[in-house]
Amino acid sequence: MRDLRAFKITVFGTVQGVGFRPFVYRLAKELGLAGYVKNTGSGVEIFVEGNGSSNISEFLSHLEADKPPLAEIDRVTVLPSVPLGLSSFSVETTRDEKSFVFISPDVATCSDCIKELFNPVDRRYSYPFINCTNCGPRYTIVEDLPYDRPKTTMKIFEMCRDCRKEYEDPLDRRFHAEPTACPRCGPQIRLLDPSTEEEVVGGLKRAAQFLKEGKIVALKGLGGFHLLCDPHNVQAVRRLREIKKRQRKPFALMARDIETIDKYTHITSQEIDFLLSPRRSIVLLKKRKPHKLPDEIAPYMDSLGIMLPYTPLHALLLNDIEILVATSANERESPILKDEEEGVYNLCDLVLTHNRPIYMRCDDSVMKVVSGKPLFLRRARGYVPEPLEVPDFLKVKGEIIALGGELKNTVSIYKEGFVITSQYLGDLKDYRNFKYFSEIISHFERLFTFKPGYVVSDLHPDFLSTRYGETLGIPHIQVQHHYTHILACMLEHGVGVGEKVLGVAFDGMGLGTDGTIWGGEFLIADYLSFSRVAYLKPLPQPGGDLAAKEPYRMAISYLLGAFGEAFPLPGILENVDKKRIKAIVKALKDGVNSPYTSSCGRLFDAVASILGIAPLRAEFEGEAPMRLESLADEGVEDSYDFYLNSPNIDLSPMIKQIVLELKSSRVSYIAGKFHNTLAKLICEIATSLGKRFSISKVVLSGGVFLNALLLKKTEKLLEENGFTVLRPTKFSPNDESISLGQMAHALAKLKYGV
Ligand code: ZN
Ligand code: ZN
Ligand code: FE
Repeated sequence: MRDLRAFKITVFGTVQGVGFRPFVYRLAKELGLAGYVKNTGSGVEIFVEGNGSSNISEFLSHLEADKPPLAEIDRVTVLPSVPLGLSSFSVETTRDEKSFVFISPDVATCSDCIKELFNPVDRRYSYPFINCTNCGPRYTIVEDLPYDRPKTTMKIFEMCRDCRKEYEDPLDRRFHAEPTACPRCGPQIRLLDPSTEEEVVGGLKRAAQFLKEGKIVALKGLGGFHLLCDPHNVQAVRRLREIKKRQRKPFALMARDIETIDKYTHITSQEIDFLLSPRRSIVLLKKRKPHKLPDEIAPYMDSLGIMLPYTPLHALLLNDIEILVATSANERESPILKDEEEGVYNLCDLVLTHNRPIYMRCDDSVMKVVSGKPLFLRRARGYVPEPLEVPDFLKVKGEIIALGGELKNTVSIYKEGFVITSQYLGDLKDYRNFKYFSEIISHFERLFTFKPGYVVSDLHPDFLSTRYGETLGIPHIQVQHHYTHILACMLEHGVGVGEKVLGVAFDGMGLGTDGTIWGGEFLIADYLSFSRVAYLKPLPQPGGDLAAKEPYRMAISYLLGAFGEAFPLPGILENVDKKRIKAIVKALKDGVNSPYTSSCGRLFDAVASILGIAPLRAEFEGEAPMRLESLADEGVEDSYDFYLNSPNIDLSPMIKQIVLELKSSRVSYIAGKFHNTLAKLICEIATSLGKRFSISKVVLSGGVFLNALLLKKTEKLLEENGFTVLRPTKFSPNDESISLGQMAHALAKLKYGV
C-alpha cells in the first residue's frame, strides 16, 4: 500500500440521467480501483484510488473515450487527493446542492430496448413504455432538477420489486433510469372514444384497425399529441386537412424503417444517419417520381418530411402499419396539445393516450440535411435543452435572458458560460403561444435556478416579447433583428471578438434602425456593432403586413418599379381582380399604407407570383418561396442582370427579363436562373466589400437561407472565390435564432461595451 494514489475527478456536461455513474462504476471495477462516484450540483464527481498511477491514467483515458452514448462531456478536471484506503468502488446516490445542471433532451428508444420490446419472453415484451438509461423521455417529463424520479411525471408510479432491483443495481442497464417501468408497475395506454370521452377496449390493435379503415387517431407521444391517418387514403388525408384547417401546409409522415422511406423518397447515406439518430428529427427528403402517395400530403413541394418511430408506442403501432401521416395535434397556429382535455377530442375519431403526464410540451424537430449538416426548419424535441458553451472571451458573471422576436419565437438564457435556447414556441401574437412563452420562462428559472440580471429583446417596440422585457424592471438591451440573425451564427461558430464578418441576412421582415422594414441586408458586423453596407433596393410594400399573406401585392410593386405604370400582368396577376390591382397601384403611388421594404422574402413572393406558382393567399410563412425552390431546375447555370448602385441592389433588370422570358422558357428554368442571380449578386458584393474591409468570412442567415438550393449555390460560389462561409447548423437560420443572436450581443456588450 506504499504507492497508494488518489485523484478527485470532476466531469462537467450532460452527465446526469444518461448512465454515466454505472459506466464509471464498471470501469473502476475492471481496473481494480476503489473510490466512489456521485452526482453533484454541476456534474459528476469521481474519487478514485489505486496502487501506482498506470491504472488511474487508463481510467482517465477510457472515461472520455468510452462514455455512454448520451453523455456529453464539456470539461474534466483532475486534482490529486489524499488516499482514503477504501476497499471497493461504490455509487453514491446522495447529491450536493444544485447550481447549474444540464438535462438531456428526449431520446429515441435504443436498440437494446427495441430487442426486448419484440422479444416474446422478455418481461417487457410489447410494453409501450420500455426505456433504460440510454433512452426514453427526459426533458418533457422533468418538473425540476436534480433529475430524480420524484421530480419527474413518473413520480406517480411506484416501482415493482423487479424494477427496483434493476434500478438499484450499478451493473444493470436500468441503474437509476428514472423513467424505468414495466407492465406491472408503470404507465398504461388507454383508448378513448372522443364523442363520449370514455374508455373503449381493443388497445393498439384497435387503433391500427381504425387507421386502416381511414379514420383519424390522436396519439400521445413524447412532447404532445400527433394526429395520425393512413397516407394512402386520400379521403382520410383530406378530412385531416379540414380538421386542422390547413389546406396545403405539408404534413409530416412517420415510417416503420429506412426501407419503407426508400419506397417513397430518395435518401442519401447522410440523411439516413440523421433519420436513425437518437434525436429522431423529421427530415425533409426528395419525393420519388412518379410519386406513390397522394399530392394532398405536401402539395406543390418536391419533398416529404419523414421521421422514424421514436417511442416504443410508435414502434409497436408502426409494426402493424408501415407508414402514417403524423402531424402535430393543435389548432392552427397554437402550441402542440399535450393533454386530452386541451381539445384533442375535437380533432379525431379515436384517442390513443396514456397516463404518463407530459410536463413540458415540445414539437418534433424538422431539418433538411445540406452538405452533411442539419439545416433546421424547427429545433425542438431531441435537441432542446442542449446548452451551447460560449467562447471564453464572451463569458461574463451575470445571468441574462433573451426574449427573441415574435414569429417563430424562442427564448435563450445565459448562465455560467452556457446558453440554453428553448424549443420553438410559435407566433407570440396568439395568446396561447404567449402563455407557452411565459411558461417556458418560469420553467427555465426553476429548472436552472436562473434569475436574470439583464434582458435583451428586439428593437420593435410593439413586439410582445419587447413589452414583456420592459416589465421585468432590469437593464434592457435592444438589438436589431437582422443583426441578431448574423450574431447567432457568429456565436455558434465562435467567431473571434473584434473580428469582422460580412453578414448576409436574407429574411422575411424585421424593423430596421431607420424605421423601414429590412430583410435583404449586407451587414459588416462584429459582436458589438454593425453597419449596413448594401441592401436590396427598398420598394413600397402595399398593404403593409398583408403583403406577406398575399404574395401578388409585392409582384405589383416590383412590376411597377421595373416597367412603370403600363406594367404587364403576368402569372397569378391574371387572376386578380383588375379593380383591386388599380387600387393597389394608387396606394403605391400615394404612399398609403405602403412602407418601404428591402425584404428578400418579399422578392421571392413577387417572383413566384410573376411565374404563376404562388398562391393568391399564402397559408403559411414562406409558402410561395418554398414553391419557387421546389420547382427550380438545379442544373441551370445562367443568371439575370442587376445593377449595383451602392448601397442599393436594383433588381428591375431581372424582373424585366423574367417577364420577357416567360413567353418562351420553362418556369423551372427561370426559377433556377433566379436562384443563380441571388447567389451571384451575393458573391459580387462579398468580393467588392471583402477587399474594401479586408473580410474573409461571410455569414449566411435569415429565413430565406432555409432554401437549400440558394444556400448550396451561394456557398459554392463564395468558396470558389476564397471566402469562408458560415451558416447555422445547430440552430435554425429563421427567427428561432433571434434570441441566441440577442444573447451574443448582450454578452459582448457586458464584457467589452461601454
Ligand atoms: Zn433503452
Ligand atoms: Zn415494474
Ligand atoms: Fe428574421
